[in-house]
Amino acid sequence: MAPLSEAQRGIVNTIREFVRREVNPVAMQMEHDDEYPFELVERMKELGLFGAIIPEEYGGLALDVSTYALIIEEICRGWMSLSGILNSHLIMAYMVTTKGTQEQKNHYLPLMASGEKRGGICITEPNTGSDVQAIETRAVRDGDEYVVNGSKSLITNGRHGNTFALVTKTDINADPPRKGMSIFIVEKGPGFNVVRDIPKLGYKGVDTCELSFEDYRVSGGNLVGGEEGQGFYQILSGLELGRINVAARCLGVARAALEEATKYAQQRKTFGKPIGEHQSIQIMLANMATNVQAAHLMVLHAAEKKDRGERADMEAGMAKLFASEMCMEVTIDAMRIHGGYGYTQDLPVERHFRDAPLMMIGEGTNEIQRVLIARHLLKDFSTGDFLYESGLKL
Ligand SMILES: Cc1cc2nc3c(=O)[nH]c(=O)nc-3n(C[C@H](O)[C@H](O)[C@H](O)COP(=O)(O)OP(=O)(O)OC[C@H]3O[C@@H](n4cnc5c(N)ncnc54)[C@H](O)[C@@H]3O)c2cc1C
Repeated sequence: MAPLSEAQRGIVNTIREFVRREVNPVAMQMEHDDEYPFELVERMKELGLFGAIIPEEYGGLALDVSTYALIIEEICRGWMSLSGILNSHLIMAYMVTTKGTQEQKNHYLPLMASGEKRGGICITEPNTGSDVQAIETRAVRDGDEYVVNGSKSLITNGRHGNTFALVTKTDINADPPRKGMSIFIVEKGPGFNVVRDIPKLGYKGVDTCELSFEDYRVSGGNLVGGEEGQGFYQILSGLELGRINVAARCLGVARAALEEATKYAQQRKTFGKPIGEHQSIQIMLANMATNVQAAHLMVLHAAEKKDRGERADMEAGMAKLFASEMCMEVTIDAMRIHGGYGYTQDLPVERHFRDAPLMMIGEGTNEIQRVLIARHLLKDFSTGDFLYESGLKL
């Protein structure tokens, strides 16, 4: 793995400072109050984070995926909810950058880079999530426009975002159904309804909404890529980035939990010595640190592969799967190490523990990751030797 460049170090340090000075002091209270972080969003705009991976020609920072992953890790060491505000926005920006028409790029990317337009991804519906091809939202052509009807559920940024990548069916008879799927860039307006905010276990402060579209009209010029039937493939390319983001979030949350547990193990005394001197606590800390390190390497491996322009779906899926299961274990062990106080809202480890399960679900559940990884292995690496194929075997 390549060492960090000077530029990468500079950016990561800037974000680390931002988190230390501005996020850490307010994260716990805002999370408990389920308060949307308006001021921090303004600061993230100033830092250019809404344009992190948008090309410079459209006003973005043009960071590579590896640097983006490191930034997300730093943000999540402070407060994971902030990364949610960025992630689906940037998946959408990535989709427009890589799959949009030139007009769509010229119009939307500068506005997204500045954070004036803040995006989200609308895939999940009340009746379907993992089975993306089963979506029921329809877009029917009417002259130069399409008329959209349907419902979307669990949509991040649904209330405070204003511009979304909406996944629809433009041909309900397509066989296979994925060939009838199309994505539109939609903005709030008549027929676009925010039905409700959905209360959650963790990941608070960030809006997760149910949306409905009732005879919502969108210009044909907003069909991503300008061609019907490409939606499913456009989602897949965005999800690769999304999975790296989720895996990076896990690193941030797990590192924060590990840091708290390590400090506590040196302060808290039982039976005449710091609990960090009891072997069972040491074993927990050692396993936690080893797993964080392994996940870190997997995330950077997937990100670097994507940066080289190679397909990284298997690596991104593995990183997301491993990192999210790791994050669950690390956060519960951090709670164990804190004893009863770990269960209270006086300390941040209960928040880390509540944030962790989302990563086993978002951007494709871990069950779906396993299905995809196994399918990839059986198809492309029938000898089972995928490390050799990746050029890693000595
Ligand atoms: C806080 C939050 C934010 C979210 N933000 C967004 C967003 O911005 N945009 C968006 O579109 N969606 C969003 N989602 C939705 C998320 O992507 C879905 O919840 C996820 O894809 C799973 O879909 P589902 O909930 O319908 O579960 P289902 O698909 O109903 O799955 C239920 C269970 O069955 C398992 N399962 C399903 N199919 C298989 C299979 N073939 N083999 C084995 N097991 C299977 C699943 O792993 C899961 O355990 C968000 C969710 C949450 C909780």
